[in-house]
Amino acid sequence: SKFKKGLSKTRNSFSSKINDLVARYRTVDEDFFEELEEVLISADVGVTTVMEMIEELEMEVKRRNIQDPQKVKEVISEKLVEIYYGDDDAGDIEGLVENPDGLTIYLFVGVNGVGKTTTIGKLAHRLKSEGKNVTLAAGDTFRAGAIEQLEEWGKRVGVNVTKHSEGSDPAAVIYDGIQSAKSRQADVLICDTAGRLQNKVNLMNELSKVKRVIEREAPGAPHEVLLVLDATTGQNAMSQAKTFSEATDVSGIVLSKLDGTAKGGIVLAIRNELDIPVKLVGLGEKVTDLETFDAHAFVYGLFA
Ligand code: GDP
Repeated sequence: SKFKKGLSKTRNSFSSKINDLVARYRTVDEDFFEELEEVLISADVGVTTVMEMIEELEMEVKRRNIQDPQKVKEVISEKLVEIYYGDDDAGDIEGLVENPDGLTIYLFVGVNGVGKTTTIGKLAHRLKSEGKNVTLAAGDTFRAGAIEQLEEWGKRVGVNVTKHSEGSDPAAVIYDGIQSAKSRQADVLICDTAGRLQNKVNLMNELSKVKRVIEREAPGAPHEVLLVLDATTGQNAMSQAKTFSEATDVSGIVLSKLDGTAKGGIVLAIRNELDIPVKLVGLGEKVTDLETFDAHAFVYGLFA
C-alpha cells in the first residue's frame, strides 16, 4: 500500500537494524536491551519514550519468560502500539472530526516550510473526491507568496479560495472565508494561518483572534486545529509542537514528509510525550500523498 511505500526509508533502516540485532544475540540480556535502546533512539522515537518502552519491554519479557530474541521482536511491536495509544483504547484510527449538521472548519497551524500549504491542498483534494464542497481561506497574510501558493492549489484541486492582500488582518480573511463558505453552502472550510514562530506572543494573539472569529461566526468550530510538523526535522518538530500547543489548543498533528526520513519514530514520541494524536501523514509531494494515520499499520509496517 501507499502507506508502506511512503514509509520505506524508516522501514528499511529500522527493520534492518532490528533484524541485525536479533540475529547477533542468542539470549535476551542487558546488552540486548541497551542496543535496542540505541536503535529506537536513532529512529527518533525520543529518549523519554524509549526509556518507558524499554522498561515495559523488560518487564514483559521477564513476565513471559522470553529468551529468544526473535520472540522479543513481536513484543516490541505490541509495546510500540501500546506506547502510541497510552491509556486510551488501542486500535482506533483517529480520523478528522466532522460537523454532521453543517459547515466543518479546520484550522491549520505550523511553521513556514513544514508543508502546511501542500497539506491543505491535498486535504482539499481528498475531501472533494469524497463529494464534499470544499473552500479555502488564505489566512497566511504574512509570508510573501503564501496567498498565491494557496490560490494555485485551489486552481489545481478546483476549489474556491477567499483571500485579501498581503499584510492584511488574518482574522478578517477568515471571517470572509466563513461568510463565503456559508453562502456557497460549503461542507468544509480549511483555513491557513501564518507560521512565524519568532515571536510567541504575536503568534498566540494572532491565533486566538482567528479562533475567536471562528467560534463566534460558527459555533462549535473549529472542529480541528491541525498542527503540521515536518518529520524530517526530528526533535525540532517536538519543540514546535510544544510551542504551538502552548499558543493554542491543538487537536491533531499532521506529520508531513514521512517519506523523506528514516526517523519515522517521531510519530510515537509526539503522541506519547505530548498526548496529541497524529491524524494525517504526508507521504510525498503529489496531491494524493496524504493518508489517515493508523498506528497499527505504521508499527507493523516497520517490521514488514
Ligand atoms: P509551508 O510553507 O508550510 O506551506 O510548506 P509547503 O506546503 O510550501 O511545502 C514545503 C515543501 O515541502 C514543498 O516543496 C512541498 O512539496 C514539500 N512537501 C510537503 N509535504 C510533503 C510530503 O509529505 N513529502 C514530501 N516529500 N515533500 C513534501
